[in-house]
Amino acid sequence: MVTRGASHSTVVDGSLQARELPFGSNSVQHGTAVFEGIRMYATPTGPALFRLDEHLQRLLDSAALLGIPHAYDLASLRGHVRDAAAASGLDNAYVRPVLHTREPRLGVNLRDFHFTLGTEIWALPPDDTAPPAVRVTVSPWCRPSRLTFPVRAKATGTYVVSALARTRASADGFDDAIQLDPNSGRVAEATIANVFLVREGRLVTPWLEDSVLAGITRDTVLTLARDLGIETAEVPVEPGELPAADEMFLTGTASGLVPVAAVESHTYAAARPVTDALSRAYREAVLGGDPSRSSWLTPVPHP
Ligand code: PMP
Repeated sequence: MVTRGASHSTVVDGSLQARELPFGSNSVQHGTAVFEGIRMYATPTGPALFRLDEHLQRLLDSAALLGIPHAYDLASLRGHVRDAAAASGLDNAYVRPVLHTREPRLGVNLRDFHFTLGTEIWALPPDDTAPPAVRVTVSPWCRPSRLTFPVRAKATGTYVVSALARTRASADGFDDAIQLDPNSGRVAEATIANVFLVREGRLVTPWLEDSVLAGITRDTVLTLARDLGIETAEVPVEPGELPAADEMFLTGTASGLVPVAAVESHTYAAARPVTDALSRAYREAVLGGDPSRSSWLTPVPHP
């Protein structure tokens, strides 16, 4: 888990700079920034970033959806993030590029600001093994509506909503919360992860028509499942379908596949054959143990 990270470093525009972000920065004052979370894994051939280009393309898409002005393209972002990862000297880490504004100026017109890339890197312990199963509740706090926010954008400000749901879930004795789409009332996602169900051997995840981030781990798991011959479906999911499932798990870059032990008062069976098979395939892919997935790994040169 990311929160177990022991150290961190900040790189701005490829060179180490002061960590301090001006308190008056619009990104601090109003949450006006877009970001990514990328995993660097120790592989047999050295450290590598998992699905780097897909993450950076989503960063560019997030900026475009919000109208954030900046001077980057995919190649320059790739260079900055690889340099930052290499400069850290780490091989197992969580890498967070943030397109933010450093100017201490007031206002909410994003076109008035200059946005620049900063990358924060958290070291992860070498024994970063598969995460334990979690207990989840269904949150009273819905995801932001697609009528109020472009839900495909990964923007810092919207994480207040995740924080509300997670804080409330924790106070109620749960590890995480499932959040609903406010317009349809259907299952959207967890606070920082996508949701998967297994029912009679079929893998189901909420479709992107609801208020769901197009998770890169979600896409990875769907691809791995299809290649393993598991039937997949991206469909509307009603909250009542959660306890009716045989297995449930969450997906996100930070933790990979996280099994769900219980939703509200319903406990899932301890045997999770589909979750286990997909977790194994996922770990093989990210750790460089599956040569057919090498295109998903970008090597990081050590300085
Ligand atoms: N939904 C939300 C709200 C998230 O913050 C994340 C984490 N980025 C995800 C889903 C999972 O996305 P990914 O697999 O790309 O990390």
